[in-house]
Amino acid sequence: MFTREELENCTRCPLHKTRTHALHGEGNENADIMLIAQAPGELEDKENKMFIGPSGMMLYKLIEEAKIYKDMLYMTNLIKCTLPHNRRPKQSEILACSSYLDMEIKKVEPKILAPLGYYSTKYIFQKFGFPSFSRKDFPELIGKIFTSDKYRIFPLSHPASLLYHHEFYKNSVVNFSNLRKIIGKK
Ligand code: SF4
Repeated sequence: MFTREELENCTRCPLHKTRTHALHGEGNENADIMLIAQAPGELEDKENKMFIGPSGMMLYKLIEEAKIYKDMLYMTNLIKCTLPHNRRPKQSEILACSSYLDMEIKKVEPKILAPLGYYSTKYIFQKFGFPSFSRKDFPELIGKIFTSDKYRIFPLSHPASLLYHHEFYKNSVVNFSNLRKIIGKK
């Protein structure tokens, strides 16, 4: 596993030039559920704290409504440095950064990996040998369980998308509640 200091000093990709902080995952390192978001937002980058911006607030609202408690979770990002102007990640950045996520998965060994959004799901699918899919097809995968030899994978919408598409909120609460049920919590 890597240290916070190693991550803070990482210069493996050009995103180090525009970040303030590289964000380490947070939560219970023996958690049953690992939530994998895309990248830290502007506020997270400034304050060096996960999920404190608008999409983080949305995530906490979903978790609370679904009765998922913080000790059930380890939360991290696919890319550890913020993406300027919230742009999409480049393949080269995912390639440079994903070994940190790989180490976190190995350390936490959760029962279930829940990638939030298209890019995190695409990476996790590729890592565990599932077929590739397009952005257009991603909604079909949300809320379904995929089983690899070691992990169950449960793709979810990225909470940032709910800031603009509130019509999907209720369905997201159902999906998060199902996530709780998958780990055997009523
Ligand atoms: S995004 Fe990842 S690989 Fe790139 S500098 Fe930040 S921590 Fe390093």
